[in-house]
Amino acid sequence: MGKVIHCECGLITRKDSDDELIEAVIEHMHRVHPELVGKLSRADILSMAVEA
Ligand SMILES: [Zn+2]
Repeated sequence: MGKVIHCECGLITRKDSDDELIEAVIEHMHRVHPELVGKLSRADILSMAVEA
């Protein structure tokens, strides 16, 4: 089972592992939400994720 994050900008990211998901979200933040970089911890990112 994987996890999905629905970003506030409308992007939907689904990955099979927590590590992949966090990596993808951090990369997305660097590209689209640079103001959030360094503000969200791994736990914060995982708390946004839902099982899917
Ligand atoms: Zn976004």
